[in-house]
Amino acid sequence: MTDLTALTIADARDKLRAKEISATELTEAFIGAVEGGDALNAYCVKTPEIAREQAKAADARLAAGDAPSLCGIPLGIKDLFCTKGVNSQAGSNILKDFKPPYESTVTSNLWADGAVMLGKLSMDEFAMGSSNETACYGNVVSPWRSKNSNAELTPGGSSGGSSAALAANLAMATTGTDTGGSIRQPAAFTGTVGLKPTWGRVSRWGIIAFASSLDQAGPFTRTVRDSAIMLGSMASVDDKDSTSADIPVPDYEAALTGDIRGKRIGIPKEYVVDGMTEETKRLWDEGADKMRALGAEVVEISLPHTKYALPAYYILAPAEASSNLARYDGVRYGHRAELSQGDGITEMYEKTRAEGFGAEVKRRIMMGTYVLSAGYYDAYYIRAQKLRTLIKRDFDEAFEKVDAILTPTTPTPAFALGAKSDPLDMYMQDIFTVTVNMAGLPGISIPAGMSGDGLPMGLQLIGKAFEEGDLLNTAFALEQSIGFSETPEKWWG
Ligand code: GLN
Repeated sequence: MTDLTALTIADARDKLRAKEISATELTEAFIGAVEGGDALNAYCVKTPEIAREQAKAADARLAAGDAPSLCGIPLGIKDLFCTKGVNSQAGSNILKDFKPPYESTVTSNLWADGAVMLGKLSMDEFAMGSSNETACYGNVVSPWRSKNSNAELTPGGSSGGSSAALAANLAMATTGTDTGGSIRQPAAFTGTVGLKPTWGRVSRWGIIAFASSLDQAGPFTRTVRDSAIMLGSMASVDDKDSTSADIPVPDYEAALTGDIRGKRIGIPKEYVVDGMTEETKRLWDEGADKMRALGAEVVEISLPHTKYALPAYYILAPAEASSNLARYDGVRYGHRAELSQGDGITEMYEKTRAEGFGAEVKRRIMMGTYVLSAGYYDAYYIRAQKLRTLIKRDFDEAFEKVDAILTPTTPTPAFALGAKSDPLDMYMQDIFTVTVNMAGLPGISIPAGMSGDGLPMGLQLIGKAFEEGDLLNTAFALEQSIGFSETPEKWWG
């Protein structure tokens, strides 16, 4: 018998439409898997009742012959997306028990296309992190184990619940958000496909904000085809988000021809960095060879301002976060500290924020407030904005010569939980991904090989703004050529 929880969306869609399986049967298989997956701690909220109801509705649509691609497909949703009446707290105690009275645009789009919600997925607090160790729900454990050790590994972050749940077959696809790498890095660590669309392609309405000029939602899937299917539903032109681009959403799946003959692929020389393992370098070279074998031309390019991307990001992202997170004051949402006799409103704000936010979030708020303060604004914030323009210009110039850019997704495979205690060491995780957010471009990570320790490694492709169809097709061609098929050995449940 086929394991229903291991199917791709494309395969499940065909089986559902052919009435070989029902949405209810599929959903029950996943509800069972989610129950058995507690050791991974990927779900922070489980919603089996909602799932069963949505599956029933999906079966009715399937019976009526009105079934969009996601009809009856069970998904997990990152805790950053507001889901009506269901806890949405961004992995933070300050939003404890917050139940939004509205649904995010992305999840509304998914439910309108018939998808089924299995629950909410853990994440680093307010999406700040690269290891899922700052969540108020505790660490998420990767389903992967290294060959040489039994240490618990990170599934990456901040969307670590999303990557772990998908890799462990606790959802058929999941949603994530990516401000500096939080979809692509966890995808690389778990052998899954993670897509960050162009900024403005997917509405941010109803997604709890971290750094608004960088945040973008996207899917985690098993295959590039599934990524195209998910993006087709998640993307929309939205009146509720004035920065959502007024560009019609094309049929991304139709773009997957696998033909990339004559395409030009850039290899940025500045991405050869210290700390990159030999294995990573080899994986990258092999990826370039595969591109050539597929008929593409591989050329060296230069992105000269790359080295400034991470420092500039750690000025701009905290600056925006300090402003976005000012709203958590104990008045409007979630947690409010207990007050002592004589405490006034100032004490209420101070105590609430001191108790509600974790250490990393406090660090970002302090950095952000500092770089925006009078006297330092020009020295830090304005200079970082100027660097952002230069980084964007590097890409504009590169894309005059090439159609896509190939890089590793991360310098190394997944590390052990607890292994990185120095914040700077953690920030280095995003060295290859953060430039893409700074320039607002689409990027995708696909599983590309295994390390000597038996852990998955990813390659990143970066595309032109709003040309996700072309980017997905390039990734599709490379995916077919690589033929990655590893899955983690089951030790949980
Ligand atoms: N790791 C980066 C940070 O902590 C990126 C996070 C993200 O993309 N949400 O800011």
